[in-house]
Amino acid sequence: MSGTPCLTATLWDRLERDMLDLVRWARRKSPWVLHFNSGGCNGCDIEILDLLTPRYDVERLGILKEASPRHADILLCTGPVTRQSRDRLRRIYEQMPAPKWVVAVGSCSCSGGVFRDGYNVLGGIDQVLPVDIYIPGCPSRPEAMIDGLVRLLEMI
Ligand code: SF4
Repeated sequence: MSGTPCLTATLWDRLERDMLDLVRWARRKSPWVLHFNSGGCNGCDIEILDLLTPRYDVERLGILKEASPRHADILLCTGPVTRQSRDRLRRIYEQMPAPKWVVAVGSCSCSGGVFRDGYNVLGGIDQVLPVDIYIPGCPSRPEAMIDGLVRLLEMI
């Protein structure tokens, strides 16, 4: 029965592929998002809270705001990176399980914005972490954030 191991291997490959597709589908349908402000003015944070109101209601897309980095898939960052917040930001990112994604929300988070070149400001989030999606604006509008998150979900 020389054909049996080959058939088993093919079935196993297919099962593995189907399982990976299923996991990817589940991740896309239910991303858990952790929000961290590393030094902004809170303007973008208020707009993020807007996403949870009935008007924008991102939970209809399966997006859930999560408080623990250990359960989060996506790190939503606002504000520039300051010298004080750099290590904390890095630690939070390291506590998130892989695969994980980083979204920079607001001009400060994308490039340092109005705080750029401040004595205690290092710049945008990408000075410390790999950023997958940039959502500019001061502050970013909820519609822009939803658009950015949907684009990210398409990448997952
Ligand atoms: S982008 Fe504008 S609203 Fe957002 S944290 Fe920076 S200064 Fe505040």
